[in-house]
Amino acid sequence: MEDSPLSRRRLLWGAAGAAGTALAAVGLPRLMGPGEKAKAAPPRPGHKGPVAAAGPPAARRKDPSVDYAPAVWIEASESNYTASERPEAYPIEYVVIHLTTDILPVMFTKFKDPAERVSAHYMISATGTQIAQCVRERDVAWHSGSVWYNHRSIGIEHEGWTDQPVYTDKMYEVSAVLTATICAKYDVPVDRDHILGHVEVPLSTHDDPGTAWNWDKYMKLVETARRRIRT
Ligand SMILES: [Zn+2]
Repeated sequence: MEDSPLSRRRLLWGAAGAAGTALAAVGLPRLMGPGEKAKAAPPRPGHKGPVAAAGPPAARRKDPSVDYAPAVWIEASESNYTASERPEAYPIEYVVIHLTTDILPVMFTKFKDPAERVSAHYMISATGTQIAQCVRERDVAWHSGSVWYNHRSIGIEHEGWTDQPVYTDKMYEVSAVLTATICAKYDVPVDRDHILGHVEVPLSTHDDPGTAWNWDKYMKLVETARRRIRT
């Protein structure tokens, strides 16, 4: 159907690429092989505690690097996350799974709008062919509705709707490798106590990822990917 969310999404991905975000050039993310690790951010000595939430200093704003090599950097507004120095400032103990309930270009616009007060670390397209990082893992994205969980988690948004699961096997696979990589990097157990749906965050007012999200399939993929990553 011409006006289906997927058609609109494709159109808008193209428009975003034309606007210079380089999205169109991303292609298929490379899955991690045995012994491989995602590129970690270079250590920055001298930071020992929580950093004030006033926003990143100038040097950080100019840093376009990603924590996960297959991702492209599409930066959220500095007003939409809390600058931090995790995992030293706060342990990273959870991965929170979201559905966007909107097409990704709309989400990027929201993340870039200082008035929205919302962000996530990663965005994955329904096709699984696009991964964007919008907030560095060391920083606190505002995605779960809980300050406590935000400080201790990585948030991953997936393009989809709780009542309209347009996402693909490829999206599950790509997301599972990302989650497994995060679990390996921060020693997060691969179980449902630590890999949560947004709906499972205490006092959450959201219902994503919804009943159509296949947790059994997803967790098996995360377990398989995690075994392939040596730590
Ligand atoms: Zn959510």
